Amino acid sequence: MVVERGVARCPRCVSMADYVFIEGDPEPGEMRYEVRCRKCGERYEEDLRPKGGELVRVEPSITWPPDQEPVPPRDWGAELRGRVEQLREHAEQVREHAEHVREHAGQIRGRASQAYGQAANRASAAARKRVAEVDEAVRRARALVPKRRFGQLADQTGG
Ligand SMILES: [Zn+2]
Repeated sequence: MVVERGVARCPRCVSMADYVFIEGDPEPGEMRYEVRCRKCGERYEEDLRPKGGELVRVEPSITWPPDQEPVPPRDWGAELRGRVEQLREHAEQVREHAEHVREHAGQIRGRASQAYGQAANRASAAARKRVAEVDEAVRRARALVPKRRFGQLADQTGG
């Protein structure tokens, strides 16, 4: 219930503004003082409460920041175990990698060995063919030249 109206200086822009006193607001026995400034739009409110025979301003209750959750203590043991586990996994990866490299190297060696064997086979086949050709040439020569004379030729060439 408004018990008083009037004009007062706006607390913000100092223009003349309307004020009211409302009794029983916000609680019975209390009084609200409101200023509405039409110029700057300021809405000033103050709650008053009887204390020691006079009205005193009701201070807005202090809003404390919410309590912080305490930081949980570090579990060094768990951290260390986790680190050890990481290292173990890493070592396992390195071991697998080394195994892979070893297998790969084995494959390369196998291929190289195969290629070497093939080259050796080719060389040996060529040598056998050459030997066969020489044998054939000798056989033809023996057929053309008398036996005694071929023996002399062989002696001259050193065998
Ligand atoms: Zn104002």
